[in-house]
Amino acid sequence: MNTSTRSTARDRFWRHVDRLSGPEQVGLGLGLGRCWVWTSSKNPKGYGQFGNHDRSIPGSAVVTAHRAAYFFEHGELPGGGLLVRHLCNNPPCVRPSHLEAGTAKQNADDCGAASRRPIGESHPSARLKTTDVITIRTRLSSGEQAKDIAADFGVSSSLVGSIGCGRLWPNAGGPITPSRGRNGVRRGLPITEVRP
Ligand SMILES: [Zn+2]
Repeated sequence: MNTSTRSTARDRFWRHVDRLSGPEQVGLGLGLGRCWVWTSSKNPKGYGQFGNHDRSIPGSAVVTAHRAAYFFEHGELPGGGLLVRHLCNNPPCVRPSHLEAGTAKQNADDCGAASRRPIGESHPSARLKTTDVITIRTRLSSGEQAKDIAADFGVSSSLVGSIGCGRLWPNAGGPITPSRGRNGVRRGLPITEVRP
């Protein structure tokens, strides 16, 4: 592959990205800003799909868009069996600063990761109030779909999921739903602070 092939693929890639209307990742406390969302086709899990017929990116004829974004940013894909994971937990996001190389186990353990120090209502950009967080958790625990709740609050369903499992706003209160992939062990931090 030569450089011009790669820049063509990169140009084609970024034409399918919406940098303006994705969810703002204020809750992660990392200054990540807004997700950049893939607008073209997605696979059943919600990950973007990028046509790679010219094999600009190592892999098959269709690669996931977030892997493509990582490749365009770094010039290579993670080695050593690592995958490209989302810091923002938002499958269609392709913003390079929201992606990092990590293990599959890290991915499964993502919810409740203590290193992601959440920030709460005091943050100027926070759109949800503590009472909203409790309502979201209560509705999730009663079996409502994250996407329906997300629509009511005008936020992404990934944000609702992160709230539900306690990764975000761990101390806001409300019933925390155990995250997937941890043998039923309840994740998230104890509910110790409930603010009005
Ligand atoms: Zn993102």
